[in-house]
Amino acid sequence: MKAIVAIVGRPNVGKSTLFNRLTETRQAIVEDQPGVTRDRLYAEAEWNGQNFTLVDTGGIQLDKSGDTIDAHVTRQAELAIKEADVIVLVVDVAVGVTVADQEVAARLRRVNKPVILAVNKVENLKREEEALEFWSLGLPSLITVSAAHGMGTGDLLDEITNALPQTEPFAEMEGVIRTAIIGRPNAGKSSLVNALVGEERVIVSDVAGTTRDAIDVLIERDGQKYLLVDTAGMRKRAKVDEAVERYSVMRALRAVERAQVVLLVIDAVDGVTEQDQRIAGYALEQGKGMIVIVNKWDLIEKDDRTMDQFTLTVRERTAFMDWAEIIFLSAKTKSRVQKLLPVVKQVAENFQRRITTGELNSLIRDSYAINQPPSDKGRRLKIFYATQATDSPPTFIIFINDKELLHFSWERYLENRFRETYNLEGTPIRFWWRVRPKIDIRDRTVRVRKVLLSGKTRVIRKAARKKSTE
Ligand code: GDP
Ligand code: GDP
Repeated sequence: MKAIVAIVGRPNVGKSTLFNRLTETRQAIVEDQPGVTRDRLYAEAEWNGQNFTLVDTGGIQLDKSGDTIDAHVTRQAELAIKEADVIVLVVDVAVGVTVADQEVAARLRRVNKPVILAVNKVENLKREEEALEFWSLGLPSLITVSAAHGMGTGDLLDEITNALPQTEPFAEMEGVIRTAIIGRPNAGKSSLVNALVGEERVIVSDVAGTTRDAIDVLIERDGQKYLLVDTAGMRKRAKVDEAVERYSVMRALRAVERAQVVLLVIDAVDGVTEQDQRIAGYALEQGKGMIVIVNKWDLIEKDDRTMDQFTLTVRERTAFMDWAEIIFLSAKTKSRVQKLLPVVKQVAENFQRRITTGELNSLIRDSYAINQPPSDKGRRLKIFYATQATDSPPTFIIFINDKELLHFSWERYLENRFRETYNLEGTPIRFWWRVRPKIDIRDRTVRVRKVLLSGKTRVIRKAARKKSTE
């Protein structure tokens, strides 16, 4: 997930005009965000080869009808402080510095995030001069723009992309296993981090939807470093605009994207809910290692069959990732918590597993011999050759004669054979089926000649056209 840039400011300063301008500039390519429908509040932008998500906080309803306008602006800024990587404060040169501007600027000055002041509606030299007064807001970077006329927006985009976080903290660190802890509010994500850390470094709260930052904690156990990212996101906040929710979901998605292993925390009392399934779906799309943590196990009355029964139910509800690991624990009593990190380590290893080409091909040959794919009108799937394309997750390219002859059930069978043969627990694996290119020498010369011929005809046609237009 990309960095988030939030536009904040009082009503009517030109936030949405600026938002449109920044995302509609020719160079700023606007695209749909995968998995999330696009609306006018969020857009993907690109500038100088850097991508980010732009958010117009002005359109976010915070459902406090009693709020004064100033309070409303402050609350929007708070949200931006919490969720965004870069904040653009928009002010209006025609109105001048207002108390609300001063208050928001004062708050933003205390935040350890880049803040860019965009003085809008600067359309002439006089305005340019008047804009100087906004330096009094004490923000380190001031850009004059006219959103309506598209002036200064290139400079603003430069400033924004300069301020974007260049590398994720810890992301480049060798030998660190990166996890993202996801799940519904109150499932016990931060309690779990606390239990793992062994000291209260994360705020735990009983109130559903209590806001806090996504927190990175780096711990070391038995010589292995683990980065735990507790995602405050993916929470349902009552009576809040859906856009607010999406804001924090995006944050959580970023954590998932940079993780190797995703820990999906569910509440044993509630079981796997629809929201859990949805959250798991996000992580699945990203192709990450996955561990389902059934938390609050202390609240369940148990006999010696309970765990097996529970496992079955969890498997049923998460059938789309039947390879995921499942762990039962209690973050509160810390019972079984010590079992978790070894599993995280194993899943991270499996996620990065490499299989030699020789081994791979003999496994496929054997699998084929034991269970031949069914023939279709006398034709049968043939497998020529396989090689591992990448790890994280393990991805294999398999060359075949015809994709039409590949049946889901056989693919499934092959995946099972892989899983039986190699330790791939907790990680998805991918097959990329490719039709083998023809290697017959005569074929190739024919093709090459065809290409040459068609190239030639194009050139000739072009020349002909040129002539006719002259
Ligand atoms: P928002 O409430 O902050 O999102 O503000 P809008 O984008 O809706 O703009 C408020 C008003 O300011 C509208 O009438 C816009 O046409 C106007 N406006 C926005 N940008 C500019 C600008 O650069 N110059 C001038 N003169 N007017 C602008
Ligand atoms: P988060 O919103 O997912 O981060 O959830 P929290 O960690 O804030 O926990 C929500 C509530 O569940 C708090 O009241 C915790 O004390 C409680 N809780 C968390 N884990 C457990 C557990 O294993 N057992 C019990 N009984 N309560 C738990």
